[in-house]
Amino acid sequence: MTISSVLVIGGGIGGLSAAIALRQQGYETTVIERYPDMHASVFGVGIIQPANALRALDMIGCAQACIEAGYPAKQWGRMLDVDGNHRFDMPGIRIEGSTLPPLNGVTRPKLHEILTNRAEEVGVEIHYAAEFASLVENADSVTATLVDGREFTADILVGADGVRSKVRHHVLGHDMQTEYIGQSAFRVNIPLLPEIDCIILQGDDQGMAGYVPIGPDLAYMFYNAHMGTHERIPHDQLAPRLREYLARFGGLTARVRDEFITDDADIVLRPEESMGTPKPWHKGRVVLMGDAVHAITPHLGQGAAQAIEDGVVLADALAAHDVLENAFLEYTERRYERCKLVVDTSLAIGEWEMGRLPGFDNVAATNHVLDVMAQPL
Ligand SMILES: Cc1cc2nc3c(=O)[nH]c(=O)nc-3n(C[C@H](O)[C@H](O)[C@H](O)COP(=O)(O)OP(=O)(O)OC[C@H]3O[C@@H](n4cnc5c(N)ncnc54)[C@H](O)[C@@H]3O)c2cc1C
Repeated sequence: MTISSVLVIGGGIGGLSAAIALRQQGYETTVIERYPDMHASVFGVGIIQPANALRALDMIGCAQACIEAGYPAKQWGRMLDVDGNHRFDMPGIRIEGSTLPPLNGVTRPKLHEILTNRAEEVGVEIHYAAEFASLVENADSVTATLVDGREFTADILVGADGVRSKVRHHVLGHDMQTEYIGQSAFRVNIPLLPEIDCIILQGDDQGMAGYVPIGPDLAYMFYNAHMGTHERIPHDQLAPRLREYLARFGGLTARVRDEFITDDADIVLRPEESMGTPKPWHKGRVVLMGDAVHAITPHLGQGAAQAIEDGVVLADALAAHDVLENAFLEYTERRYERCKLVVDTSLAIGEWEMGRLPGFDNVAATNHVLDVMAQPL
Protein backbone atom coordinates (compact mmCIF):
# COMPACT_ATOMS: atom_id res chain seq x y z
CA MET A 1 0.00 0.00 0.00
CA THR A 2 1.37 3.42 -0.88
CA ILE A 3 0.83 6.26 1.55
CA SER A 4 1.05 9.75 0.13
CA SER A 5 -1.05 11.97 2.40
CA VAL A 6 -1.31 12.37 6.18
CA LEU A 7 -3.79 14.31 8.29
CA VAL A 8 -2.47 15.35 11.71
CA ILE A 9 -5.10 16.31 14.30
CA GLY A 10 -3.57 18.79 16.75
CA GLY A 11 -1.00 21.49 16.06
CA GLY A 12 0.76 21.29 19.44
CA ILE A 13 4.40 20.38 20.04
CA GLY A 14 3.92 16.75 18.97
CA GLY A 15 1.61 17.37 16.01
CA LEU A 16 3.86 20.02 14.48
CA SER A 17 6.99 17.90 15.01
CA ALA A 18 5.33 14.89 13.40
CA ALA A 19 4.09 17.02 10.51
CA ILE A 20 7.60 18.32 9.80
CA ALA A 21 9.12 14.83 10.01
CA LEU A 22 6.39 13.40 7.72
CA ARG A 23 6.77 16.20 5.20
CA GLN A 24 10.55 15.68 5.21
CA GLN A 25 9.84 12.06 4.21
CA GLY A 26 7.80 13.38 1.26
CA TYR A 27 4.24 12.95 2.57
CA GLU A 28 1.64 15.58 1.78
CA THR A 29 0.85 16.70 5.33
CA THR A 30 -2.05 18.72 6.72
CA VAL A 31 -2.43 19.86 10.33
CA ILE A 32 -5.84 20.56 11.88
CA GLU A 33 -5.67 22.87 14.92
CA ARG A 34 -8.69 24.11 16.84
CA TYR A 35 -7.14 27.36 18.08
CA PRO A 36 -7.31 30.44 15.82
CA ASP A 37 -3.55 31.00 15.44
CA MET A 38 -0.18 29.71 16.46
CA HIS A 39 -0.04 31.62 19.75
CA ALA A 40 -3.55 31.10 21.07
CA SER A 41 -3.01 27.69 22.68
CA VAL A 42 0.38 28.33 24.23
CA PHE A 43 0.96 29.32 27.86
CA GLY A 44 3.65 31.90 28.35
CA VAL A 45 5.90 29.75 30.50
CA GLY A 46 8.90 27.64 29.61
CA ILE A 47 9.83 24.21 28.44
CA ILE A 48 12.72 21.98 29.44
CA GLN A 49 14.57 20.41 26.51
CA PRO A 50 16.89 17.62 27.62
CA ALA A 51 19.48 16.33 25.13
CA ASN A 52 17.14 13.67 23.73
CA ALA A 53 14.55 16.36 22.89
CA LEU A 54 17.26 18.36 21.14
CA ARG A 55 18.37 15.29 19.16
CA ALA A 56 14.81 14.77 17.89
CA LEU A 57 14.47 18.50 17.15
CA ASP A 58 17.76 18.35 15.28
CA MET A 59 16.29 15.66 13.01
CA ILE A 60 13.52 18.06 11.98
CA GLY A 61 15.81 21.07 11.62
CA CYS A 62 14.73 22.92 14.78
CA ALA A 63 17.39 22.30 17.45
CA GLN A 64 19.74 25.13 16.54
CA ALA A 65 16.95 27.71 16.52
CA CYS A 66 15.82 26.52 19.99
CA ILE A 67 19.37 26.79 21.33
CA GLU A 68 19.80 30.27 19.85
CA ALA A 69 16.49 31.45 21.31
CA GLY A 70 16.88 29.70 24.64
CA TYR A 71 19.41 28.95 27.33
CA PRO A 72 21.77 26.05 26.56
CA ALA A 73 23.16 24.78 29.87
CA LYS A 74 26.47 23.05 30.58
CA GLN A 75 24.82 20.45 32.82
CA TRP A 76 21.33 19.09 33.40
CA GLY A 77 20.76 20.08 37.02
CA ARG A 78 21.76 20.79 40.59
CA MET A 79 20.13 19.71 43.86
CA LEU A 80 19.82 21.99 46.89
CA ASP A 81 18.40 21.16 50.31
CA VAL A 82 15.43 23.02 51.80
CA ASP A 83 17.75 25.63 53.31
CA GLY A 84 19.42 26.26 49.97
CA ASN A 85 22.70 24.39 50.58
CA HIS A 86 24.31 22.68 47.60
CA ARG A 87 23.86 18.89 47.67
CA PHE A 88 25.18 17.71 44.32
CA ASP A 89 25.32 18.33 40.58
CA MET A 90 23.57 16.21 37.93
CA PRO A 91 25.56 16.33 34.69
CA GLY A 92 22.78 14.89 32.49
CA ILE A 93 23.47 13.18 29.19
CA ARG A 94 25.35 13.83 26.00
CA ILE A 95 24.20 12.26 22.76
CA GLU A 96 27.01 10.23 21.25
CA GLY A 97 28.47 11.85 18.17
CA SER A 98 26.67 15.17 18.69
CA THR A 99 27.64 18.54 20.19
CA LEU A 100 24.17 19.14 21.61
CA PRO A 101 24.14 20.41 25.22
CA PRO A 102 22.68 18.25 28.03
CA LEU A 103 19.86 20.78 28.46
CA ASN A 104 18.26 23.74 26.80
CA GLY A 105 15.44 25.84 28.18
CA VAL A 106 13.15 27.86 25.92
CA THR A 107 9.81 29.68 26.22
CA ARG A 108 6.80 27.81 24.93
CA PRO A 109 5.73 30.58 22.53
CA LYS A 110 9.24 30.61 21.02
CA LEU A 111 9.25 26.82 20.57
CA HIS A 112 5.85 27.04 18.90
CA GLU A 113 7.05 29.77 16.58
CA ILE A 114 10.15 27.73 15.61
CA LEU A 115 8.11 24.59 14.91
CA THR A 116 5.44 26.51 12.98
CA ASN A 117 7.97 28.37 10.84
CA ARG A 118 9.79 25.15 10.03
CA ALA A 119 6.51 23.36 9.22
CA GLU A 120 5.59 26.13 6.79
CA GLU A 121 9.09 26.15 5.30
CA VAL A 122 8.94 22.42 4.44
CA GLY A 123 5.41 22.74 3.03
CA VAL A 124 3.06 21.54 5.75
CA GLU A 125 -0.47 22.92 5.37
CA ILE A 126 -1.85 24.20 8.69
CA HIS A 127 -5.54 24.94 9.24
CA TYR A 128 -6.34 27.02 12.34
CA ALA A 129 -9.77 27.48 13.91
CA ALA A 130 -10.41 23.92 12.74
CA GLU A 131 -11.83 21.70 15.47
CA PHE A 132 -11.88 17.98 14.79
CA ALA A 133 -15.20 16.28 15.66
CA SER A 134 -15.21 12.74 14.26
CA LEU A 135 -13.68 10.39 11.73
CA VAL A 136 -14.67 7.52 9.45
CA GLU A 137 -12.37 5.01 7.85
CA ASN A 138 -13.06 4.29 4.20
CA ALA A 139 -11.67 1.37 2.16
CA ASP A 140 -8.49 3.19 1.24
CA SER A 141 -8.57 6.49 3.14
CA VAL A 142 -9.79 8.18 6.31
CA THR A 143 -12.08 11.23 6.50
CA ALA A 144 -12.13 13.67 9.41
CA THR A 145 -15.15 15.91 9.95
CA LEU A 146 -14.74 19.18 11.80
CA VAL A 147 -17.20 20.78 14.20
CA ASP A 148 -18.11 23.31 11.47
CA GLY A 149 -18.84 20.49 9.00
CA ARG A 150 -15.71 20.74 6.85
CA GLU A 151 -14.21 17.42 5.78
CA PHE A 152 -10.58 16.42 5.18
CA THR A 153 -9.53 13.10 3.66
CA ALA A 154 -6.07 11.52 3.68
CA ASP A 155 -4.43 8.08 3.51
CA ILE A 156 -3.80 8.02 7.26
CA LEU A 157 -4.70 10.12 10.30
CA VAL A 158 -2.43 10.93 13.26
CA GLY A 159 -4.09 11.76 16.59
CA ALA A 160 -1.87 14.41 18.22
CA ASP A 161 -4.74 16.14 20.00
CA GLY A 162 -3.36 16.07 23.54
CA VAL A 163 -4.65 14.81 26.89
CA ARG A 164 -8.36 15.19 26.02
CA SER A 165 -7.89 13.48 22.66
CA LYS A 166 -11.03 12.71 20.69
CA VAL A 167 -9.05 10.60 18.23
CA ARG A 168 -8.10 8.35 21.16
CA HIS A 169 -11.77 7.33 21.49
CA HIS A 170 -11.62 5.82 18.02
CA VAL A 171 -8.45 3.83 18.71
CA LEU A 172 -8.74 2.88 22.39
CA GLY A 173 -12.39 3.46 23.33
CA HIS A 174 -13.91 5.94 25.78
CA ASP A 175 -12.61 4.32 28.99
CA MET A 176 -9.01 5.32 28.50
CA GLN A 177 -8.73 8.68 30.29
CA THR A 178 -6.03 10.63 32.09
CA GLU A 179 -6.02 10.65 35.91
CA TYR A 180 -5.28 13.53 38.25
CA ILE A 181 -2.25 12.50 40.33
CA GLY A 182 -2.86 14.67 43.41
CA GLN A 183 -0.45 17.45 42.47
CA SER A 184 -0.96 20.72 40.63
CA ALA A 185 1.89 22.68 39.08
CA PHE A 186 2.48 26.33 39.87
CA ARG A 187 4.55 28.08 37.18
CA VAL A 188 5.84 31.64 37.17
CA ASN A 189 8.39 33.44 35.03
CA ILE A 190 11.13 35.29 36.92
CA PRO A 191 14.28 37.17 35.92
CA LEU A 192 17.29 34.92 35.33
CA LEU A 193 19.28 34.96 38.57
CA PRO A 194 23.01 34.12 38.22
CA GLU A 195 22.71 30.82 40.14
CA ILE A 196 20.02 29.49 37.72
CA ASP A 197 22.46 28.17 35.12
CA CYS A 198 20.80 24.72 34.76
CA ILE A 199 17.72 23.09 36.36
CA ILE A 200 17.86 23.85 40.09
CA LEU A 201 15.82 21.52 42.31
CA GLN A 202 15.43 22.58 45.92
CA GLY A 203 13.61 20.59 48.57
CA ASP A 204 12.93 17.12 49.93
CA ASP A 205 10.24 14.45 50.10
CA GLN A 206 7.79 17.05 51.39
CA GLY A 207 7.98 19.10 48.20
CA MET A 208 10.40 20.40 45.59
CA ALA A 209 10.71 23.86 44.11
CA GLY A 210 12.45 24.07 40.75
CA TYR A 211 14.04 26.65 38.46
CA VAL A 212 14.69 26.45 34.72
CA PRO A 213 16.64 29.00 32.64
CA ILE A 214 14.67 29.68 29.44
CA GLY A 215 16.45 32.62 27.83
CA PRO A 216 19.34 35.04 28.24
CA ASP A 217 17.49 36.95 30.97
CA LEU A 218 14.49 34.77 31.80
CA ALA A 219 13.83 31.72 33.99
CA TYR A 220 10.76 30.04 35.37
CA MET A 221 10.03 28.74 38.78
CA PHE A 222 7.80 25.72 39.41
CA TYR A 223 6.31 24.06 42.44
CA ASN A 224 4.31 20.82 42.36
CA ALA A 225 1.74 21.35 45.13
CA HIS A 226 -0.11 18.49 46.82
CA MET A 227 -3.78 19.38 46.24
CA GLY A 228 -7.05 17.47 46.50
CA THR A 229 -8.98 16.52 43.36
CA HIS A 230 -11.65 19.15 43.85
CA GLU A 231 -9.50 21.77 45.55
CA ARG A 232 -9.59 25.09 43.72
CA ILE A 233 -7.56 28.21 44.47
CA PRO A 234 -9.31 31.48 43.57
CA HIS A 235 -7.32 33.47 41.04
CA ASP A 236 -6.67 36.34 43.46
CA GLN A 237 -5.18 33.88 45.98
CA LEU A 238 -2.55 32.27 43.75
CA ALA A 239 0.45 34.33 44.95
CA PRO A 240 -0.34 34.10 48.70
CA ARG A 241 -0.96 30.34 48.43
CA LEU A 242 2.28 29.73 46.53
CA ARG A 243 4.15 31.80 49.12
CA GLU A 244 2.57 29.62 51.84
CA TYR A 245 3.78 26.44 50.12
CA LEU A 246 7.27 27.95 49.95
CA ALA A 247 7.31 29.29 53.52
CA ARG A 248 9.66 26.61 54.90
CA PHE A 249 12.35 27.21 52.23
CA GLY A 250 15.55 29.22 52.66
CA GLY A 251 18.24 30.30 50.18
CA LEU A 252 17.26 30.75 46.54
CA THR A 253 13.60 29.86 47.05
CA ALA A 254 13.21 32.28 49.96
CA ARG A 255 14.59 35.06 47.79
CA VAL A 256 12.34 34.21 44.84
CA ARG A 257 9.30 33.88 47.15
CA ASP A 258 9.89 37.26 48.77
CA GLU A 259 10.93 39.21 45.67
CA PHE A 260 8.99 37.72 42.75
CA ILE A 261 5.91 35.81 43.91
CA THR A 262 3.77 38.90 44.21
CA ASP A 263 1.33 39.14 41.32
CA ASP A 264 -1.49 36.58 40.94
CA ALA A 265 -1.75 37.36 37.23
CA ASP A 266 1.80 36.10 36.60
CA ILE A 267 1.07 32.63 37.99
CA VAL A 268 -0.19 29.64 36.04
CA LEU A 269 -1.67 26.71 37.99
CA ARG A 270 -2.36 23.45 36.18
CA PRO A 271 -3.49 20.06 37.52
CA GLU A 272 -1.06 17.26 36.70
CA GLU A 273 -2.50 14.30 34.85
CA SER A 274 -1.03 10.98 33.88
CA MET A 275 -1.99 8.14 31.57
CA GLY A 276 -0.18 5.17 30.14
CA THR A 277 -2.07 3.14 27.56
CA PRO A 278 -1.67 -0.46 26.43
CA LYS A 279 -0.51 -1.39 22.96
CA PRO A 280 -1.46 -1.13 20.13
CA TRP A 281 -1.50 2.63 19.58
CA HIS A 282 -3.22 2.33 16.21
CA LYS A 283 -6.37 1.02 14.63
CA GLY A 284 -6.77 0.71 10.89
CA ARG A 285 -5.48 3.92 9.35
CA VAL A 286 -5.41 5.91 12.59
CA VAL A 287 -2.45 6.19 14.95
CA LEU A 288 -1.92 8.07 18.24
CA MET A 289 1.05 10.02 19.53
CA GLY A 290 2.13 12.47 22.26
CA ASP A 291 -0.08 13.25 25.25
CA ALA A 292 -3.02 11.66 23.43
CA VAL A 293 -1.50 8.25 24.14
CA HIS A 294 0.96 8.84 27.04
CA ALA A 295 0.18 11.80 29.29
CA ILE A 296 3.33 12.54 31.28
CA THR A 297 3.54 14.62 34.46
CA PRO A 298 6.23 17.33 34.40
CA HIS A 299 8.61 15.79 36.98
CA LEU A 300 11.28 14.81 34.44
CA GLY A 301 10.61 17.52 31.86
CA GLN A 302 10.10 14.79 29.26
CA GLY A 303 6.50 15.17 28.03
CA ALA A 304 7.25 17.32 25.03
CA ALA A 305 10.47 15.42 24.37
CA GLN A 306 8.52 12.18 24.06
CA ALA A 307 5.94 13.79 21.76
CA ILE A 308 8.70 15.09 19.47
CA GLU A 309 10.42 11.70 19.45
CA ASP A 310 7.09 10.02 18.60
CA GLY A 311 6.75 12.22 15.53
CA VAL A 312 10.25 11.50 14.27
CA VAL A 313 9.96 7.73 14.80
CA LEU A 314 6.48 7.57 13.24
CA ALA A 315 7.71 9.25 10.05
CA ASP A 316 10.76 6.99 9.98
CA ALA A 317 8.69 3.81 10.41
CA LEU A 318 6.18 4.85 7.73
CA ALA A 319 8.98 5.46 5.25
CA ALA A 320 10.56 2.07 6.03
CA HIS A 321 7.52 -0.14 5.34
CA ASP A 322 5.21 -0.81 2.41
CA VAL A 323 2.59 -2.39 4.65
CA LEU A 324 0.88 0.19 6.90
CA GLU A 325 0.24 -2.27 9.73
CA ASN A 326 3.96 -3.10 9.87
CA ALA A 327 4.89 0.58 9.99
CA PHE A 328 2.51 1.23 12.89
CA LEU A 329 3.73 -1.90 14.71
CA GLU A 330 7.34 -0.82 14.37
CA TYR A 331 6.45 2.69 15.58
CA THR A 332 4.78 1.37 18.75
CA GLU A 333 7.53 -1.19 19.32
CA ARG A 334 10.20 1.52 19.25
CA ARG A 335 8.22 3.91 21.45
CA TYR A 336 6.30 1.82 23.99
CA GLU A 337 8.85 0.86 26.67
CA ARG A 338 10.65 4.18 26.48
CA CYS A 339 7.45 6.18 27.02
CA LYS A 340 6.26 3.78 29.74
CA LEU A 341 9.51 4.30 31.66
CA VAL A 342 9.03 8.08 31.52
CA VAL A 343 5.32 7.92 32.51
CA ASP A 344 6.00 5.53 35.43
CA THR A 345 9.11 7.30 36.75
CA SER A 346 7.49 10.75 36.54
CA LEU A 347 4.56 9.36 38.54
CA ALA A 348 6.88 7.81 41.14
CA ILE A 349 8.70 11.12 41.64
CA GLY A 350 5.31 12.80 42.18
CA GLU A 351 4.37 10.15 44.75
CA TRP A 352 7.70 10.69 46.53
CA GLU A 353 7.16 14.46 46.58
CA MET A 354 3.80 13.85 48.26
CA GLY A 355 5.51 11.76 50.97
CA ARG A 356 3.93 8.52 49.71
CA LEU A 357 7.09 6.74 48.60
CA PRO A 358 9.57 6.92 51.50
CA GLY A 359 13.07 5.74 50.60
CA PHE A 360 12.58 6.33 46.87
CA ASP A 361 15.77 7.66 45.29
CA ASN A 362 14.52 10.40 42.96
CA VAL A 363 18.04 11.28 41.81
CA ALA A 364 18.96 7.71 40.84
CA ALA A 365 15.58 7.35 39.08
CA THR A 366 16.11 10.59 37.13
CA ASN A 367 19.64 9.59 36.12
CA HIS A 368 18.41 6.18 34.98
CA VAL A 369 15.75 7.73 32.76
CA LEU A 370 18.27 10.18 31.29
CA ASP A 371 20.67 7.29 30.53
CA VAL A 372 17.92 5.40 28.71
CA MET A 373 16.95 8.59 26.83
CA ALA A 374 20.53 8.90 25.56
CA GLN A 375 20.20 5.56 23.75
CA PRO A 376 19.32 5.61 20.05
CA LEU A 377 15.67 6.29 19.22
C1 LIG B 1 2.62 22.41 33.74
C2 LIG B 1 3.30 21.59 32.69
C3 LIG B 1 4.65 21.77 32.46
C4 LIG B 1 5.31 21.00 31.51
N1 LIG B 1 6.65 21.19 31.31
C5 LIG B 1 7.29 20.42 30.39
C6 LIG B 1 8.68 20.60 30.15
O1 LIG B 1 9.33 21.45 30.76
N2 LIG B 1 9.30 19.79 29.22
C7 LIG B 1 8.57 18.86 28.53
O2 LIG B 1 9.19 18.13 27.71
N3 LIG B 1 7.24 18.70 28.71
C8 LIG B 1 6.59 19.45 29.62
N4 LIG B 1 5.25 19.30 29.81
C9 LIG B 1 4.51 18.35 28.98
C10 LIG B 1 4.27 18.88 27.57
O3 LIG B 1 3.70 20.17 27.59
C11 LIG B 1 3.36 17.93 26.81
O4 LIG B 1 3.78 16.61 27.04
C12 LIG B 1 3.40 18.23 25.33
O5 LIG B 1 2.89 19.52 25.09
C13 LIG B 1 2.62 17.18 24.55
O6 LIG B 1 2.51 17.57 23.21
P1 LIG B 1 1.23 17.12 22.37
O7 LIG B 1 1.44 17.71 21.02
O8 LIG B 1 1.02 15.67 22.49
O9 LIG B 1 0.00 17.81 23.08
P2 LIG B 1 -0.34 19.36 23.16
O10 LIG B 1 0.90 20.16 23.19
O11 LIG B 1 -1.33 19.48 24.27
O12 LIG B 1 -1.06 19.67 21.78
C14 LIG B 1 -2.33 19.20 21.45
C15 LIG B 1 -2.91 20.15 20.41
O13 LIG B 1 -4.10 19.59 19.90
C16 LIG B 1 -5.06 20.63 19.78
N5 LIG B 1 -6.39 20.00 19.83
C17 LIG B 1 -6.96 19.35 20.87
N6 LIG B 1 -8.18 18.90 20.53
C18 LIG B 1 -8.37 19.26 19.24
C19 LIG B 1 -9.46 19.09 18.32
N7 LIG B 1 -10.58 18.43 18.67
N8 LIG B 1 -9.33 19.58 17.08
C20 LIG B 1 -8.20 20.25 16.69
N9 LIG B 1 -7.16 20.45 17.53
C21 LIG B 1 -7.23 19.96 18.79
C22 LIG B 1 -4.78 21.54 20.96
O14 LIG B 1 -5.30 22.84 20.77
C23 LIG B 1 -3.24 21.52 20.97
O15 LIG B 1 -2.69 22.53 20.16
C24 LIG B 1 4.59 20.03 30.76
C25 LIG B 1 3.19 19.87 30.98
C26 LIG B 1 2.58 20.63 31.95
C27 LIG B 1 1.09 20.43 32.20
